[in-house]
Amino acid sequence: MPEQRETRLGIVGAGTMGAGIGLVALRAGLSVVLQDASDQALQRATVYLRKYLEKAGQQAALGRLTTTASLGDLAACDVVIEAAPEELGLKQSIFAELDRLCPPPALLATNTSTLSVTAIASAAAAAGRVAGLHFFNPPPLMPLVEVARGARTTDATIESLVTLVARLGKTAVVTADTPGFIVNRVARPFYGEALRILGEGTAFAEQIDRIVELGAGFRMGPFRLMDLIGLDVNFAATRSMWEQTFGEPRYRPHPLQARMVEQGALGRKTGRGFYSYDGAQERPDPEVPTARRDASGLVIVSEGSWAPGLAERVAASGYALREAHGETPLAGIVAAGREEGGRVILERLDRGLASDVPILCQASDQTLADAAANLAGRRRIFGFDGLFAGAGRAITLVAGGESDPLARDGADLLMAGLGLRSEWIADGAGLVLPRVMSMLANEAAFALGEGTADEATIDLAMKLGANYPIGPLEWLRQAGPAKVLRVLEHLRAVFAEERYRVAPLLRRWAQEEKRP
Ligand code: NAD
Repeated sequence: MPEQRETRLGIVGAGTMGAGIGLVALRAGLSVVLQDASDQALQRATVYLRKYLEKAGQQAALGRLTTTASLGDLAACDVVIEAAPEELGLKQSIFAELDRLCPPPALLATNTSTLSVTAIASAAAAAGRVAGLHFFNPPPLMPLVEVARGARTTDATIESLVTLVARLGKTAVVTADTPGFIVNRVARPFYGEALRILGEGTAFAEQIDRIVELGAGFRMGPFRLMDLIGLDVNFAATRSMWEQTFGEPRYRPHPLQARMVEQGALGRKTGRGFYSYDGAQERPDPEVPTARRDASGLVIVSEGSWAPGLAERVAASGYALREAHGETPLAGIVAAGREEGGRVILERLDRGLASDVPILCQASDQTLADAAANLAGRRRIFGFDGLFAGAGRAITLVAGGESDPLARDGADLLMAGLGLRSEWIADGAGLVLPRVMSMLANEAAFALGEGTADEATIDLAMKLGANYPIGPLEWLRQAGPAKVLRVLEHLRAVFAEERYRVAPLLRRWAQEEKRP
């Protein structure tokens, strides 16, 4: 790409993505030739570009914009980005034309989200200059661009496109040409597991969103995000991944998605999805309790790696804190972890504490029913998930069918005293966060093991491309691969499904962690 003169960027398709990419390029000082088969689309894109450039006092940039219905007008471009509809045949015919019209060294890129770059590039004789350039919606706001290397893409093409992305003010990550690249692939379980938790009746959509948002710091829970993206778009992406992998069970769409799409409940754009948007305001931030309880209670927390900061939070809230290794505590509410000695600790507490004292035990790699099965005081035993509880604003709690309501109130009060909102859900394998986070980490470990990208790149891509508060592999290392392995094996045992098989790399890391 010549540095001396203005770079000329061609864009095929002036829809949502093409117009958005055009705005990014004009703002970055490039000249843009925007092509679309539809005059209406070109007009709409021009109105959009004018509006946002004028708003920023950059109307002069419009002088660098040309619109056209003819692909031939892209002949003098240095780079052409195709953002036409997601159909392989259509994209192949566009690339065959571009290959003929735009002589090397012009580079050709596709913004496809789910199709194979290699298959699209096969329509071009000079496939070495073809790559994926995957922008996220809306392009002006999203900081990440995935640069996807097709089977024949040359290193020089990748380097030039990475440079172009930097000129556009974005961060590039280089990915292999595998279905969904990094972000759309690793993010699949975020939606898929949430849909299954909902479908199994373990928790409501609003609860799952609150647990994910307040409990783990995600900007948007899976259902709010699906409503924003559009259920049809999300369903199509899932389906495409599933079909391209010949039915990989981890990507299998959920019947609920199909049913909602059939009904036209597509999310915000139709006024109804998992939430309804009939002119009402966004629902307000859920309340986080501030109740205080007298500090005489005794709380025992173990397994710090699974709930970092929880012990400190407990101590800072004025509760007495004991590690769950010593003698049977005298009184109070007890939260016991479940490392090796978990069951023993639980039995000792059950024998030692008065029968009305609530006991909370971690229920992320066991069901509450299993944990409490042999205990005399089953009615006052509750499950909890303390993942991120050190910093979070919500905690997940599980009560058994015969739980003592007073003990349940006591558990609620304890959590309120910690500033945590209690989300009571049913006794389901992996609850919400352990299941979603472990499956995200598992998917990231599969992607890493298969060479999609390196570890740091995968984490960076998820943070910038999907707004995750922490990279899935970063979290895996923090939470401990052995513990994550136990959650996944628990899910596999309960559901007996291939979907929950463990990535070989994650299993290896777990073995290495255990080695002295
Ligand atoms: P869109 O429907 O908004 O825009 C597509 C445009 O292409 C339309 O204006 C249409 O008139 C035009 N078009 C159709 N046939 C054409 C042809 N033969 N030649 C030139 N133009 C033609 O679609 P979009 O959402 O902008 O998606 C475009 C591409 O970007 C797809 O491959 C999609 O998978 C990908 N993508 C979309 C998103 C997203 O969230 N919308 C995000 C990332 C990537």
